[in-house]
Amino acid sequence: MPDAPQGKPEDRKNDPKALKSTLNLPQTTFPMKANLPDNEPKRLAAWQQQHLYAQIRTARTGAAKYVLHDGPPYANGAIHLGHALNKCIKDFVVKTKTMAGFDAPYVPGWDCHGLPIEIKVDEQLGRKKLEMDPLAVRRACREYAQKYVDLQRTQFERIGVFGRWDNPYLTMSNGYEASIVETFYDFFEKKFIYKGLRPVYWCIHDKTALAEAEVEYEQHTSPSVYVRYKLTSDPEMVHAGLAGKSVSTIIWTTTPWTLPASQAVAFNPQLEYVALEAGCPTSGSSDVGSSEPQLYVVAEALLPSVIANCNLMSGKNNAEPASQSDVIARFPGSALEGATFQHPFLDRSVLGVTAEYVTADQGTGAVHTSPAHGVDDFDTGKRYNLAEIQYVDNAGRQRHTGRNGGGDQPQPYEDLTVFKSNPVIIELLREKGALLSATTYEHSYPHCWRCHNPIIVRATEQWFIGMETPMLTPEGVATTFRQRALDEIKQVVWDPGWGEERISNMIATRPDWCISRQRIWGVPIAVFLCDTCGEPLNDKSINKSIVDLFRKEGADAWYIHEASTLLPKSAACRSCGHKEFRKETDILDVWFESGASWHAVLDLEPELHSPADLYTEGGDQHRGWFHSSLLTSVAVRNHAPYKMVATSGWTLDEQGRAFSKSLGNGVDPVDIAKRLGGEIIRLWVASVDFREDVAASENLMQRVSDNYRKLRNTLRFLLSNLYDFDPSTNAVYFAQMEPLDQFILARTAELDAKVREAYDDFEFHRAYQALNEYVNTDLSALYLDVLKDRLYTFAPNHPGRRSAQTALWRIAEALTRLIAPILSFTADEVWQLLPKVANREASVHLALFPDIADIVPGNVRHIEEDWEHLLTLRDEVLKVLEEARTAKEISNRPSEVQVVIGWLNSLASQPNPIFERYQNVLPELLGVPQVHFADAIVTEGTVEKGAFYVQAKPAAGRKCERCWRFTEDVGNDSKYPTVCLRCADALEAIHFPPYNAPPNNSTEPQA
Ligand SMILES: [Zn+2]
Ligand SMILES: [Zn+2]
Ligand SMILES: [Zn+2]
Repeated sequence: MPDAPQGKPEDRKNDPKALKSTLNLPQTTFPMKANLPDNEPKRLAAWQQQHLYAQIRTARTGAAKYVLHDGPPYANGAIHLGHALNKCIKDFVVKTKTMAGFDAPYVPGWDCHGLPIEIKVDEQLGRKKLEMDPLAVRRACREYAQKYVDLQRTQFERIGVFGRWDNPYLTMSNGYEASIVETFYDFFEKKFIYKGLRPVYWCIHDKTALAEAEVEYEQHTSPSVYVRYKLTSDPEMVHAGLAGKSVSTIIWTTTPWTLPASQAVAFNPQLEYVALEAGCPTSGSSDVGSSEPQLYVVAEALLPSVIANCNLMSGKNNAEPASQSDVIARFPGSALEGATFQHPFLDRSVLGVTAEYVTADQGTGAVHTSPAHGVDDFDTGKRYNLAEIQYVDNAGRQRHTGRNGGGDQPQPYEDLTVFKSNPVIIELLREKGALLSATTYEHSYPHCWRCHNPIIVRATEQWFIGMETPMLTPEGVATTFRQRALDEIKQVVWDPGWGEERISNMIATRPDWCISRQRIWGVPIAVFLCDTCGEPLNDKSINKSIVDLFRKEGADAWYIHEASTLLPKSAACRSCGHKEFRKETDILDVWFESGASWHAVLDLEPELHSPADLYTEGGDQHRGWFHSSLLTSVAVRNHAPYKMVATSGWTLDEQGRAFSKSLGNGVDPVDIAKRLGGEIIRLWVASVDFREDVAASENLMQRVSDNYRKLRNTLRFLLSNLYDFDPSTNAVYFAQMEPLDQFILARTAELDAKVREAYDDFEFHRAYQALNEYVNTDLSALYLDVLKDRLYTFAPNHPGRRSAQTALWRIAEALTRLIAPILSFTADEVWQLLPKVANREASVHLALFPDIADIVPGNVRHIEEDWEHLLTLRDEVLKVLEEARTAKEISNRPSEVQVVIGWLNSLASQPNPIFERYQNVLPELLGVPQVHFADAIVTEGTVEKGAFYVQAKPAAGRKCERCWRFTEDVGNDSKYPTVCLRCADALEAIHFPPYNAPPNNSTEPQA
């Protein structure tokens, strides 16, 4: 829409040239240029000064609660666009619920413990850390976390997110830390927790476990060996064709040092395997120690590479290499499940197992499995109940003799570090006739980030939560922890719906939860271990005393006080009776910490409640926070911690690529707020369906910024025509309003319903689309455009003008409230400039959404039905006017045109009754001064009932000097000889002095 002219009409009544000053031209202090980067911080400061968030909380006291529980972002680094998306969605939810009348508190939180911070602090401290006391390291980590909590808080507030920012929850606060151990003790006392082995990355040089993030990949040369495992179970059980034969499988490994711990051979159950009949080895190959023909079982797809690498000869002709023609049987890997094999050099039976992770990419399709030395192997071991045997000590030495089939005699590799034991084990394989090939293999291999030595995978003792722990349902039926969690998932609303299957699959297949970490920055597993036998002490009253201590002093207390001072004198080991204890040094998995927030925050904050009404985070949290929260809550409370879970997609660039420094495609929310405004980020978030992956770029932000400008101009038009409108005295009853004004209010009521429904469904993009369409189509292109004549040229107090202003006022009221959850800054700016109403809230954020009844009384469907016809007529008229202008039949100014509407009817004149009924409205709707109905013209054939035609021609009469419309009554009032009768009435109403001489110049009513 064009800019409305500015300025106060000047008092020059006696000068006929001052006709222009008698127009009601728009006035407002609401600037066209928003200047968001400068003005938003000022508004934020004002909100802070007024304690707006606290005011909102007070205003909703006693209303029904709606609790959105904030998933804590990690306090590390500045916020990125994903954070901004997440926080804006939450803010939309909280604000829409608040404006719908709910008491919707928002308590933001941060995840403060954990490895990424400890690593950053390690980097800062360097070698110094090794000499530092754990408390000093913890202090450094705390300072680091606090710094980023403060930074992120400022950044979230900057983009208009409302919440309890002055008192957020921090997982490193004393109270939260106490709640974490309290939740841990709940598990511990209910016997969900056990200690067990688990493979982890291990540096044998630093003698420590390493986290994934502490591992670097470098090139490394490993041995590459093919080893025969002889089948000891009945070959016929695998395949009838193998009956009575000597059968082996072949495994390939680059870590011969793991073979002492070999407990199974894994096959892919769906992959096709073959039995190859091979002859005696030739001189070029390794000694297989047998002269009889051998059947080798390997994956069919890998057969050629196995034949080549192991130099296998044909069973039919010992001088020829083996080939496909030597295959005597084919069967799926599943046929090998339950078969048994002889360990190549130990007195141990090795089990045939199946595993999906076995592929035909490399090796033989038969994978040697040692649960102590691989995560997949470990999980397979769990599935098949294999013993967790571990021969490698902290320093990486083989400690085997006398244990688990190691025999009484020392093995030749005893005491060697794993890498030194490799050649000895290869030699042993050769001696035992189990070695088919031994070469070397260059590959990318994990190394320690500190000492840069190659690392190993090694099982260590860890704390676990058992997924199969027995539980009762709330009804008292016996079940397991895993099953309870799966059942609770079904009680939750998942949006989008696929989330339910996703988290169900993860819970159904996950291994036991390893909750211990060998680090410092976290909450300790506050358990006392018997110094003599290692048995953990599990005593309710002692556990409670530790919770109380943490609540007072924080988890640092575990590092400050000695075990003896923390324990009562009477404490004794239940297993061996000794009274000396040491403190467990492991800390808890950070997912356990954030997963306990329903207890630490929802339970303990009086203004919140558990279960929460909504958790909403990125889709990756089915593995993370949704997952850990579900497990802790089901174990402790026997129900899910949330009623609904909504997930958002990833933020990507316009080509669907992830943001990366090297691509330079990043969109930084802090930078956008600084250059374009926080409002633009918010509007962008509203414009996308957050459930999908969402696109962002500089280009898209600019486009959103353009949309913002259009919306702002519309708001400005509304405000600028309400400067002399006082609702208490000037508002017009709906029944007395002009039909056009009634119609636009009916449309506004429809918008209100549409937007509120979209908000209820958290479909913010639908609200955005509805608002945009309303502003652009209903307001800008139609209503506000045709209204200017009435607003500017009627006497200020004319009922027609007051009717228009009543509509504008109601629209402005409704629109400001409806956009407030999204455009929080702009809505509040408009709110301050709306006509004053008694007892109105000081900020739009304290107000409620408009009720339909505030906009229209009762059902107005019939109005909209009539207007469907009138808008069809308008479309037709605009088309005809355009054609007539192009053909130079009429002036370019609509104010100099008349429109003739006639009926196409072969029977008789039968005008459209709706057009007739609205005849007086038509000049305004069509934007021309004169509209006439013509007689029917008789046409050939049948025509639709009520069908019409439109003609455009120059208007009759002459031009009014005030409103510029051509009319036939200009000069009819001798007091005002140069204006139309309508304008004469307006002049009379404002006591404009009569004049005689025609003015020399003309006025321009519409800029
Ligand atoms: Zn190391
Ligand atoms: Zn003991
Ligand atoms: Zn006029």
